[in-house]
Amino acid sequence: MKKRYSSKINKIRSFALALIFVGFIVMYGAVFFKNNVVLVLIFMCLGLLCIIASTVVYLWIGMLSTRAVKVVCPGCGKETKMLGRVDICMHCNEPLTLDPALEGKEFNEEYNRKSKK
Ligand SMILES: [Zn+2]
Repeated sequence: MKKRYSSKINKIRSFALALIFVGFIVMYGAVFFKNNVVLVLIFMCLGLLCIIASTVVYLWIGMLSTRAVKVVCPGCGKETKMLGRVDICMHCNEPLTLDPALEGKEFNEEYNRKSKK
């Protein structure tokens, strides 16, 4: 089965969204332990931590977005943001690269890791 790629910014955004949901579910879970004050407090704190973490992740996306390069996707013609040497179009999942040496090659997230070393 071929691995499905999505834009890095989109990936981080869905992670932040998931954290908010987990936070609310955990806080809701506290209702089931309403006879035990300590457990309720633990669940409430955990839920709050998830929501705070998600806020931090959202701030991080904001910072990443200012550093991201704006390119016009050759696949769909829309403007998209990319991080690193290779990324995926936010609109149509078309692989994009800033490095002409990698152009035409099959998309591989490893290229980003190698460039960091
Ligand atoms: Zn596109």
